[in-house]
This record gives sequence, structure tokens and C-alpha cells, in this order.
Amino acid sequence: MQQESKRLLQAGKTIAFVPTMGWLHEGHLALMREGRRLGDTLIVSIFVNPTQFGPAEDFQTYPKDLDRDLNLANSVGVDVIFAPEIGAMYDKAFQTHVDLEMLPRHLCGLSRPGHFRGVATVVTKLFNIVRPHVAIFGEKDYQQLAIIRRMVHDLSLNIRVVGVPTVRESDGLAMSSRNTYLSEDERRSAQSLFHSLKQAQENVAEGIRDAEELIRGASELIGSHPHVKIDYVSICDPETLEDVDRVEGAALMALAVRVGKTRLIDNAILKPIAD
Ligand code: AMP
Repeated sequence: MQQESKRLLQAGKTIAFVPTMGWLHEGHLALMREGRRLGDTLIVSIFVNPTQFGPAEDFQTYPKDLDRDLNLANSVGVDVIFAPEIGAMYDKAFQTHVDLEMLPRHLCGLSRPGHFRGVATVVTKLFNIVRPHVAIFGEKDYQQLAIIRRMVHDLSLNIRVVGVPTVRESDGLAMSSRNTYLSEDERRSAQSLFHSLKQAQENVAEGIRDAEELIRGASELIGSHPHVKIDYVSICDPETLEDVDRVEGAALMALAVRVGKTRLIDNAILKPIAD
């Protein structure tokens, strides 16, 4: 991959890059279509990165089907798929990490210790291998996108980071490779994530500004469904991810919910209509 990128750069091509963990869906394909538009050459990585999974998480069972992924990637004009073996990314003596100080101390970083260190490290490695001009990430993983933006800036990586809005199923459920774990019953309960975000947006439009009240409403809506266990419902500053008490300017509502054994996340911006 490093040789191929060197060749492309020497030929004067711009490189657009979409990192993924595979089991591709329309959300990934939206990122790829954006990448197709933004670079001469579109490179996609497929790598289930062990260092971003906790010991009790789904690394071993994460869905995989490279042939299926290659066909889907082909259908949107991907030029190169980079799918390294674990050993090519991490050897036994591996010991260097990229760690951010503040942004991982919120939201998913609290319930997934070490997760964002794994993400920041692997994305740095992928950037160094692929050497993209532009990299495309989904807003579905809002905290991840914020962390990558900060990291690229802090480390002067000279890569343009582009965010793409969340792609949803027709009933609102955010597309995710992990949706494949859901039973029919759980799939119905999973709609409550999107519904609770919509409800909070409506509440804000009706004039409610108190974060606690909005969080309570969302938690009650989600909690009224079977098989769910809320990890967090948070309203925070979209830049720093620090909790806010009131929704005055734009605020981020972010949530993580366990539906059965599957941990799902979603988010939306809450914004009072300016009068
Ligand atoms: P993953 O394979 O889950 O690591 O995701 C790879 C990239 O796809 C990340 O930048 C995700 O934010 C993005 N992504 C995942 N699901 C969606 C979605 N429903 N809509 C938009 N982007 C997504």
C-alpha cells in the first residue's frame, strides 16, 4: 500500500481515503461517494482494529465478508482496497500510541476506556500508509470525528477531514454494521434512539431549554421499550463535548444504548430557532 500511494503521489494524483471496519452498508457507501468526488484516487481500508475493542467487546464476533465488501466498494468506484492482516499493522513489540487529553473523557470514552486511543493510533498509522489528501468520516460516530479533526490539527498532518451526515434506514435507525446482531424484537426497540432524538428536537422547538428535562424525556422514551439499557444520554458542547445545562446555541445530543447485547449509538444537533 505504501508503494502504491507513493506511485500515485508521484503521478500527481490526489488521494481520498475512507477507513472502515468492513461489513459495508449504505453509510459507508455515502462516505465513498463523497471520496470519489473529492479525490482522483479513492482508497478504502477494511481493518477490524483489535486495539479499539475492550476485552468484553465484540472483536471476535464482528461481522466479516470481504467478497461482499469488495463488490459493494466496486459498485461506487473505489480504486484500491487496503485490507491488511493484523500482524502487518501490529508486531509483538508494538508500543507507540496516539492519545488525546480531553475529548476522550466524555461520552463513549467513559464506557469504552482505551477505545479512542486505539482509534487515534490506527487512524494515524493508516494515514501514514495511505498518505491521503482528504479523509472522510461519518457524523454517526461524532466523537470519533471530533477526535480525528483535533488530532489532525494538533499533529499538523495536513489532511482535510470531511464529515458526512448519518445515513439512516427508512424508519430512522442509523445504519451500522452492528445492526446485523439485532433480533426482530430488538430491531423495533432500536428505533427508540432516533425517536428520542427527534422528540428532543421537537421539545427544543417548543421552547424547552433545560438539558436535564430533555435528557429525562429521551431516557423515558427509550426506557419504555423492551431489551434496552441506557449507557448514556448526554447534551453537550459540539466542540468540547462538555455537558451543557441549557440548550442556547447549538448543542449535541448524543446517546449510547444497549439493545440486547448490542451497543448502539446515535446523535443529533439540537438548536433553538433564532427569533
Ligand atoms: P466503521 O466501519 O463502523 O468503523 O465505520 C467506518 C466509517 O463509516 C466511520 O467514519 C463511520 O462514522 C462511518 N459510518 C458508519 N455508519 C454510518 C452511517 N450510518 N452514516 C454515515 N457514516 C457512517
